[in-house]
Amino acid sequence: MPVESPLNVAVVGSGPSGFYAAGALLDTEDLDVRVDMFERLATPWGLVRAGVAPDHPKIKSVSAVYAKIAAQESFRFFGNVEVGKDVLREELTERYDAVIYAVGTPTDRKLGIPGEDLPGSVAAVDFVGWYNGHPDFADLTFDLDTERAVVIGAGNVALDVARILCSPVDRLARTDIADHALEALRTSRITEVLVVGRRGPAQAAFTTPELKELPEFTESGVDVDPEQVAEGPGDEELSRVAKRNLGVLREYAAGGLDLGQRHIKLRFLRSPIELRGDGHVQELVLGHNELRTDPEGWVSARDTGVREAVPTGLVLRAVGYRGLPLDGLPFDDRKGVIPNDRGRVEQSEREYVVGWIKRGPTGIIGTNKKDSVETVHRLLEDLADGSVRRHDRDHSFEVEPWLRQRQPNLVTESGWQLIDAAERAAGEPHGRPRVKFCRTDELLAVSRDQQSPG
Ligand code: NAP
Repeated sequence: MPVESPLNVAVVGSGPSGFYAAGALLDTEDLDVRVDMFERLATPWGLVRAGVAPDHPKIKSVSAVYAKIAAQESFRFFGNVEVGKDVLREELTERYDAVIYAVGTPTDRKLGIPGEDLPGSVAAVDFVGWYNGHPDFADLTFDLDTERAVVIGAGNVALDVARILCSPVDRLARTDIADHALEALRTSRITEVLVVGRRGPAQAAFTTPELKELPEFTESGVDVDPEQVAEGPGDEELSRVAKRNLGVLREYAAGGLDLGQRHIKLRFLRSPIELRGDGHVQELVLGHNELRTDPEGWVSARDTGVREAVPTGLVLRAVGYRGLPLDGLPFDDRKGVIPNDRGRVEQSEREYVVGWIKRGPTGIIGTNKKDSVETVHRLLEDLADGSVRRHDRDHSFEVEPWLRQRQPNLVTESGWQLIDAAERAAGEPHGRPRVKFCRTDELLAVSRDQQSPG
């Protein structure tokens, strides 16, 4: 019997779901496996680096788990390689026994209302990328020369954005927030951040710790209308999270605000109807809603016809992320995901999905672990029952030279180690976890130090 070569798997995308898939493969007992991870950016960790808010270092500390996976001998990182551009999907399936897409949901959901594209109306996705130093967003500018910003959506991204806009800059200066964001926030005139949810407080998508930390993290007031969070019939049937959230909101409602205090104002049962302004957002029209419960128990918002105009120069749309199709793979346009059966892409032989592009943009980072393990189990089942056949030839030794031909500025794990060390060293004297390089050319220059000796 010939000795079987290791199972070669490509993981496309280096965020949490990609790393959990790599980890699950490398941890599989009695499986000789090699994982190559492809990343469009020069840096790994996806939303842990460029999505999680800089003032949430505990959440970011999960990157230590990914670093441990990356340190394994059977793992390789190939950064600054775009699948679909530098290399094609088919070229991966020719070289790897399986390809797992962990590409996330990189764009924003649209509101579909008049004025949405006016300057001053901003996707939270862009704003988050900007303050986190994601190279795609580093050159954006935001007009913070307004007293009130409005954040649309009642989810955790809305709270992240509101917190960053309301936090004292000196506090943010101890985090790994991008320097350009720190500079811009120093001159911000914003004193009120209005966060609006279209349904009621009991239907908000916030998680309780994120709601609870607002006053401490922002050193600002939190304004909640007591009437909107008053106890009512049906409270008993609410989910545990909804009950806890309501408890926190009621405390805020009881607390009141100091006059002139910078604050986050949380309002519910309000939908964005129109953004108005002469060349720039000047006003957001909100519609007042009431709640309707259908026979299945689903609670939805219904327009009462009442309108309210809110003066503002900055509207951030935090109504969820959305996936993009991958050339040649099926795509569910309604859900914004790649249709799959427990992670195996429909109508494809050796391609799999994990994370948000598999199930949609929901859950916290840890949710991705179970999700990636499910896909890896599915892949191993497919190998065992022969529905995925291994390649006869092992291409692993040819991969790096092939990639360097396509992308001379390839960033390998050792290149990333140089970036990581340089960023941490830059942060140290200032008591910051790191100072991020926010532009690809800077990142490549640092990563090259070691890659092309002499
Ligand atoms: P999300 O949790 O799905 O919240 C989206 C919000 O937008 C919901 O309140 C939703 O209301 C609202 N919305 C959707 N369409 C709307 C429209 N047309 N008009 C008005 N409102 C609309 O999404 P997210 O905040 O982007 O977060 C994505 C995921 O990342 C979530 O699972 C979140 O928990 C997670 N996350 C976690 C953290 C953390 O743990 N600290 C931080 C950031 C993000 P409906 O409910 O009525 O649809």
